[in-house]
Amino acid sequence: MKLIEGKPIAEAVYTECRTELEALKAEGHLPGLAVVLVGDDPASKAYVGAKDRKCHELGLHSIKIEMAADTSMEALLAQVASLNADPSIHGILVQMPLPEHLDEDTVIRAIDPAKDVDGLHPMNLGKLAMEDPTGFAPCTPSGCQRMLVECGIETEGKHVVVVGRSLLVGKSIALLMMAKGPGANATVTVAHSRTRNLAEMTRQADILVAAIGRPHFIGADHVKSGAVVIDVGINRVDDPEAKRGYRLVGDVDFDAVAESCEAITPVPGGVGVMTIAMLMRNTIRACRMAVGA
Ligand code: NDP
Repeated sequence: MKLIEGKPIAEAVYTECRTELEALKAEGHLPGLAVVLVGDDPASKAYVGAKDRKCHELGLHSIKIEMAADTSMEALLAQVASLNADPSIHGILVQMPLPEHLDEDTVIRAIDPAKDVDGLHPMNLGKLAMEDPTGFAPCTPSGCQRMLVECGIETEGKHVVVVGRSLLVGKSIALLMMAKGPGANATVTVAHSRTRNLAEMTRQADILVAAIGRPHFIGADHVKSGAVVIDVGINRVDDPEAKRGYRLVGDVDFDAVAESCEAITPVPGGVGVMTIAMLMRNTIRACRMAVGA
């Protein structure tokens, strides 16, 4: 079994980022990312902090905007509009989930598609479906694809089964995998909570992608011998022995599945690491496109 670790692959992406960043800086351009956090959800805070730190580490301009949990829709939309108009900002990410009184869809649609580095604006999702390379693909799905490519895992003609149909992950991975071109050209099945005989379906996968949000949901009976397993899930489970009282586990029961598969991503240390790398890459690209470099 081969362990597909995110860190070295993310490092390869960061090396590319540094090269592109140097070229942009030499021409007087500095890519900027704005991350907006509404409320104080601890997991969201941790993600936003990690994104901000990575920007600083790479030398990108980064601003972190923290808004109160009771922020009104008008105030949030005004913030987005101001970032849309700010020429020093090339990427805008509004951290999801938002507090319940705020409509996520309206907020995403308010972001300038040219700054939508999370790739969730209808314009970018439409471009993803149309295989138009001028759009931004969502970061986690493109991170998964990059992992497969870097590990030399052939996708062409392979049966990819994706469990989960969210726009953020499942549906977008499916679109990427069925597109024409390298790292794609797969035959894709998408399963979800209404799928019948799920295990029967997932056992047909050459490449199984789990994006469910349920700890250890995918067990040995879901995976055929020799399959490649990409575990997107990040779930907190109570662990009194852990320093924080919890630990992170994937949607796949790693110990049960690892033995029989050809390759598998760990959690943590797998797909999660790639998401921020692809966000940095998208932000630098957004800057390049904005300045016409
Ligand atoms: P969502 O809750 O939006 O989607 C979950 C999907 O799983 C839904 O399509 C749902 O089906 C499906 N599902 C739920 N239960 C079952 C079941 N019993 N059988 C089959 N399918 C089921 O979650 P996300 O897509 O946003 O995230 C999925 C996981 O990925 C989470 O653990 C999340 O934390 C993680 N994640 C990780 C990221 C990373 O950087 N690695 C980034 C984003 C997410 P239905 O549509 O029918 O409800």
